[in-house]
Amino acid sequence: MKVIEYKAEFQKELQNLANKNKKIGFVPTMGALHKGHISLIQKSSSENDITVVSIFVNPTQFNDKNDLKNYPRFIDKDIELLKNKGCDFVFTPSVKEIYPEQDDRIFDFGDLDKVMEGKHRQGHFNGVAQVVSKLFDIVKPNIAYFGKKDFQQYVIIKKMVNMLNMPIQIKACPIVRENDGLAMSSRNILLTAEQRKNASFISNTLFKARNLTNQFSVKELKDWVINTINANPFLNVEYFDIVDDVELKSINDWQKKNNKVGCIAVKVGKNRLIDNVNFNL
Ligand code: AMP
Repeated sequence: MKVIEYKAEFQKELQNLANKNKKIGFVPTMGALHKGHISLIQKSSSENDITVVSIFVNPTQFNDKNDLKNYPRFIDKDIELLKNKGCDFVFTPSVKEIYPEQDDRIFDFGDLDKVMEGKHRQGHFNGVAQVVSKLFDIVKPNIAYFGKKDFQQYVIIKKMVNMLNMPIQIKACPIVRENDGLAMSSRNILLTAEQRKNASFISNTLFKARNLTNQFSVKELKDWVINTINANPFLNVEYFDIVDDVELKSINDWQKKNNKVGCIAVKVGKNRLIDNVNFNL
């Protein structure tokens, strides 16, 4: 496994491999790696000749300076963890390396980034698109792997690749959870012990809600989820919506044929956690 900081060196290595027709899989991350990230890497390794992992905390996708400052960073531990997991190259660029000049590009994702995370984190997905498009340009992967944990991000990246005519297949991988159901996240370590214990109430409420679809209308179920979670003094729901998995439009009728995904963001003290589950009947 090679660790590379500079894009010129990295591109040379990758070009050599592409010339040999090696199939390249790519897993972009912000580090503080956990089993969720590793599952993407293992999937890539099983489907490609070469797997590239990037670790880059992208400033342009943070709409809150403190959040960027406090985002967990464990680069040495991450590199250690990546050994023997199927990763061939770790790309660890500096901010200057990725943004030699300010990136002023504005992406138009229609309504996709006007809801849920996009609505509550203004500019977040534009920053995600800026960095992922640059990383795609550097790595030129055949397939890129994203977690369903960030469901809206996955939908928007698929749209971006289409918009930019990038010949890259985007694959979504299942959410990896802790034993108590909490979706794994780099942010979980920022929780106090008490917050961490209560955070599993989010996924457990979503799992319960899946069994209530024949008792409640969509609207009633949305309210039930929000009220149930808000009744926990450690948790404060920012949004919960059940949307279709293509246009991310709110679903108001269980009979709708689309795949239905219940997406939630919850404030836990100063931290903000997201999760989602399927509501396909
Ligand atoms: P991040 O480092 O948080 O930007 O995440 C990098 C990639 O890992 C994204 O595609 C995430 O959706 C994915 N990911 C993060 N947490 C999980 C998880 N618990 N299960 C599966 N994928 C995840």
